[in-house]
Amino acid sequence: MPSPNQGERRDGRRPDMIVLHYTGMADAEAALELLKARGSEVSTHYFVFEDGRIFQLVQESRRAWHAGAAFWAGETDINSCSIGIEIANPGHDYGYPDFPKRQIAAVTALCRGIQTRNTIPPARVLAHSDVAPSRKQDPGEKFPWRTLRDSGVGHWVDPAPIGKGGAVLALGDRSDAVAVMQQSLIQYGYGLAANSTYDSTTYDAVAAFQRHFRPERIDGIGDESTRATLRELLAQRGRIRTIAARASDFARLAS
Ligand SMILES: [Zn+2]
Repeated sequence: MPSPNQGERRDGRRPDMIVLHYTGMADAEAALELLKARGSEVSTHYFVFEDGRIFQLVQESRRAWHAGAAFWAGETDINSCSIGIEIANPGHDYGYPDFPKRQIAAVTALCRGIQTRNTIPPARVLAHSDVAPSRKQDPGEKFPWRTLRDSGVGHWVDPAPIGKGGAVLALGDRSDAVAVMQQSLIQYGYGLAANSTYDSTTYDAVAAFQRHFRPERIDGIGDESTRATLRELLAQRGRIRTIAARASDFARLAS
């Protein structure tokens, strides 16, 4: 089911990121038609129906048009470095139903397959909302990131409990604590400026972070639970990288 909406990846880039979306349309078939329609200017590598059927619209080596204006970890051409998966779900505008188990099983298996064909670090399996926090909410807080992690897909730590004290940072605040939180979000990959001011861009990044990693409450407030969860993710990602670096050093020595 090829889509005409595709091109070359910039500079022959190999994909090292997966971006998950929901379709956000009442009718899944209509969403699929749109992604294949000449002139719609949108596409995806894969489309996953509620019943678990998977369709491929663009080859993994090619650049699909799913992310739009986006940013992650210094990169703005997210379409050139990523593989996009559209998950059929009407989204927040149409009641936002739960993702069926069969659909999640299909998405998980698909991601595992993508990971065998490409080098995708766990922390680069992301939501569209992570790479475009001010524009997008998909796939949203009902997406079961923890279930995927349990099958070896993506990055997840158990969120720190809510309401255990600590400073509460909010829109309009200006302080060193805001700067520290901003720097942590930037270090993880989010696109914002470390200007010590809790501006609307910071609010959007915090809300996107919560939607992915602390889905119990999405309020854009930098509470201690949010910040502790972010610290733990950074610490764990650092440990994973150290182990990976040691493994590649060892492989070099052994060869
Ligand atoms: Zn999307």
